[in-house]
Amino acid sequence: MIQLKNQSQIIAMRDAGRITGEALAYAGEHVKPGVTTGHLDRLVRTYIESHGAKPSFLGYGGFPGSACISVNEEVIHGIPSFDRELHDGDVVKIDVGAFYRGYHGDSANTFIAGNGSPEAVKLVETTKRSFFEGLGAVVPGNRLGDVGNAVQTCVEREGFNVIRDYVGHGVGHDLHEDPNVPNYGLPHKGLRLLTGMVIAIEPMVCAGDWHVRVLPNKWTVVTSDGSLAAHYEHTVALTDHGVELLTKVD
Ligand code: MG
Ligand code: MG
Repeated sequence: MIQLKNQSQIIAMRDAGRITGEALAYAGEHVKPGVTTGHLDRLVRTYIESHGAKPSFLGYGGFPGSACISVNEEVIHGIPSFDRELHDGDVVKIDVGAFYRGYHGDSANTFIAGNGSPEAVKLVETTKRSFFEGLGAVVPGNRLGDVGNAVQTCVEREGFNVIRDYVGHGVGHDLHEDPNVPNYGLPHKGLRLLTGMVIAIEPMVCAGDWHVRVLPNKWTVVTSDGSLAAHYEHTVALTDHGVELLTKVD
């Protein structure tokens, strides 16, 4: 069931969103060769807790980190580790959630450690752009299929593919709420967009085939063909005045 949020609830969600976005940006500034994903995770946790919030992912289903940090062919749900040192050119996805005063924020971005290959740079830029193409389809009267189609079209135009097995979702008191928000779809199909929806739009994009598998650690999702992957996500509120990116910070 979709939990529509009223204006005061959306206002309350701004704080969780801002802390989420700031923690993500803070960690992203520290992505460089030689840094470990465990260190980045600690920065996220420290930032969130020092602002009176809780890391949404820590302990979620038993997840051991405060952020999901996924490198290169890892798409999502990478487990941070002090043994995982970043190398020049690594494509680093950081996914952050913060829970504050009853609500979650959820946001992800992809950073390149040092100098990325031309393919990596194009993949990261395309993934971000596909989010905003999807966002552009979030208008009254449209459906979720319009959003997914906009994301997919942008990605495939550049010769990349969207992951099918994992999708965006509603966000609110629970980290993952209805509805599912796929990064693929057909125009005019799917659930109609309604004022009061708060959804995480999160393109997960790979340079090769879109099939994925889960590593034996039962968390980390990797591309089956080992191709590079990127991820970009914001928590988006649909208000009477248009869309609001709750996790976007300047
Ligand atoms: Mg996320
Ligand atoms: Mg999400």
